[in-house]
Amino acid sequence: MTTNGAEIDRQPGKLRVGMHWASSCGGCDISLLEIGEHLLELIEVADIVFWPCAADFKYRTVADYPDGYIDVCLFNGGIRSSEHERLARLLRRKSRTLVAYGACAMDGGIPALANLKSPREIYDAVYHSNPTLHNPGHVEPKTQWATPLGELDLPGMYPQVLRLGDIVDVDYQIPGCPPVGAQVWKVLQAVVAGEVPARNSAVRVGCDNRSVCDECPREKRKTRIKAFKRPHMAVPEPNWCLLEQGFVCLGASTRSGCGAQCPKAEMTCRGCYGSAGLSSDQGTAMLSALGSVIDAVTEDRAREVVDEIVDPTGTFYRFSLASSALKARR
Ligand code: SF4
Ligand code: SF4
Repeated sequence: MTTNGAEIDRQPGKLRVGMHWASSCGGCDISLLEIGEHLLELIEVADIVFWPCAADFKYRTVADYPDGYIDVCLFNGGIRSSEHERLARLLRRKSRTLVAYGACAMDGGIPALANLKSPREIYDAVYHSNPTLHNPGHVEPKTQWATPLGELDLPGMYPQVLRLGDIVDVDYQIPGCPPVGAQVWKVLQAVVAGEVPARNSAVRVGCDNRSVCDECPREKRKTRIKAFKRPHMAVPEPNWCLLEQGFVCLGASTRSGCGAQCPKAEMTCRGCYGSAGLSSDQGTAMLSALGSVIDAVTEDRAREVVDEIVDPTGTFYRFSLASSALKARR
């Protein structure tokens, strides 16, 4: 690995791999480390030519690469600022294969829940009304700043979080918040072996086409839900479907691939692999799944039960608001 692109000479057969984060938490970068000892195998067959989280690569390093220089770039995070868009466009040009890596790049992820607020409301909360804040000068971020060396152009925040695919063409998507290490390794092995499917921005790899319920070992007893409860309100009965016990588990509307790791650990599926099947709207898919399991014969009673769900938008679209029919507050 080197921080100077000009020094990188690809050894015969070696891939050039890049990774970058935009509007995300950093978990996707860490998830690459979850392939564990396979990292050593990866480095045998690939040079890391851009990974700012791991080494001191400069944007200039990438700008100096010839177009198409990077064989595979894993881009995590959504697009929230002009800097994110600039890097997305640059990495698209420099990469032969660009992957939307993780829920934020693919569907907006948790940062896209801020699309329910206007930029003004976000600034007011973050820079003015937050009780732990000390900002007597009422300072807010600026996009220009005068320095003794000249005017600085700084990144500006966009009105809403966009997906990587809203800005540039992507070749594949790898879902998850973050993607599961075993699945990431499978995808990297396929890339190294040249066995990835034909490029298509809709193609999701590192997952499969079933739902989390399909790979969940918990028993379905065909019982109907009389009331919902939050995870801190009760200890779930082992081995019994969490949804049937009244915990809001999104397994029915979520794509499989993680091995149902949350329900196996007594936690509900929060939906991080994005919508299952052909639906792009995870929330409406889940609402329709709920409709068939709620114990209510009248519309009023059904509404009473559903009203027990705290923050329905945040619950049903926790990771996928930017891909939903809602997208943002209009
Ligand atoms: S709803 Fe949740 S707990 Fe029930 S089968 Fe599906 S994934 Fe498992
Ligand atoms: S069970 Fe659901 S929330 Fe948990 S990792 Fe899998 S898809 Fe994500």
